[in-house]
Amino acid sequence: MGAKIGFIGLGNMGGPMAQNLLKAGHDVKGYDLVPETLSVFASHGGVVCAAAKDVVVDVDVLISMLPASSHVESLYLGEGIMSLIDASTLVIDCSTIAPASTRVVSEAAKARGIQMLDAPVSGGVGGAVSGTLTFIVGGELTALGAAKPILQDMGKNIFHAGEAGAGQVAKICNNMLLSVLMSGTAEALQLGVDNGLDPAVLSEIMRKSSGGNWALEVYNPYPGVMEGVPAGNNYEGGFLVDLMIKDLGLAMEAAQDKGASTPMGSLARNLYINHRKQGNGRLDFSSIQKVYNREDE
Ligand code: NAD
Repeated sequence: MGAKIGFIGLGNMGGPMAQNLLKAGHDVKGYDLVPETLSVFASHGGVVCAAAKDVVVDVDVLISMLPASSHVESLYLGEGIMSLIDASTLVIDCSTIAPASTRVVSEAAKARGIQMLDAPVSGGVGGAVSGTLTFIVGGELTALGAAKPILQDMGKNIFHAGEAGAGQVAKICNNMLLSVLMSGTAEALQLGVDNGLDPAVLSEIMRKSSGGNWALEVYNPYPGVMEGVPAGNNYEGGFLVDLMIKDLGLAMEAAQDKGASTPMGSLARNLYINHRKQGNGRLDFSSIQKVYNREDE
C-alpha cells in the first residue's frame, strides 16, 4: 500500500518528483505558489491543497523542494508550518540550501520530536523526470531507513553523508569541485587549440593521462568533440550557469561560516559570475569554454 505524502514546491524538479511518487502508487497532496504547477500536478492524479498548512497534516512523509534557504526557512519557521506537523511525520527537504539554514530548521523539528532529513539531489530535471536522481542525505540513519523506500521511487542512488546539514555540505563540495574541473578543463583545451592542437586529440590524451576527469569523460566543454552534450547544442539544456553560481555562493557561505579557505572555488565563482554578465546565465555550465575563446575565432 502506498504512503500518504505531502509535497510542497512543484516546480521544475518537484513537479516530476511528485509525479513519480503518484506513479508508484502513493497518495500525494501538494501545494505551490504557481497555479500552473498545480494543474499539471492534478492532471497526474495529485490532490491540490489551497495552502501549505493543508499539505502538512495527516501525512506519513512531508517533502519540500523549494528554490533557496529563505524559502525553506520562511515556510517551516516563518509560516509556522513546523508547529502543525505531527511528530510521527517524517520530513524530507530536498532543496539545495545553506547547511546553516538546514541546521536551524532541523533543530526546530527536533525540538518538536519530528525526524527531518536534508536530501538535496543531483541529476537535474532529466533525472527528476526519469526517476534516477541521486539523493545526498544528512540526518539520523533511522530516519533515512524510513525514507529510503520513498526516495527510491524518485531516484537511483542514495548516500548518507552524516548528521543534519551534511547532505547540503556534500552537495556543495561536489558542485564546487565540478566548477573547478570544468573551468580548468576548458582552459587547458583552449591552450592546446591556441597552440595548434586538435581539441578531440588533446581531450583523448588528457582523458587517459593524469589530467583525466569527469568533464573529459562524459561532458566535454569544447564544441564538436563529444556527441550528445550541451557543447554540441550551443550549450542549451543541461545544468544552468545561474544554478552553478547559486551553489558556488552556498559554498562560499559555508566556507565563511567555518573559516575554510576556498581560493579555487572563489575563482571559479568569479569566472562564472563574469560569464553570466555576458548574458550566459541560462546556458549550460560547460559554456565556460566561451570565456577562453580567442577574439579572432
Ligand atoms: P523551481 O523554481 O522550478 O521550483 C521551486 C518551486 O517552489 C516554485 O514552483 C515555487 O513557486 C515554489 N515555492 C517557493 N516558495 C514556496 C512556498 N512558500 N510554498 C509553496 N511553493 C513554493 O526550482 P527547481 O529547479 O525545481 O529547484 C528546486 C531546488 O532543487 C533548488 O534548491 C535547486 O537548487 C535544486 N536543484 C535544481 C536542479 C535543476 O537542474 N533544476 C538540480 C539539482 C538541484
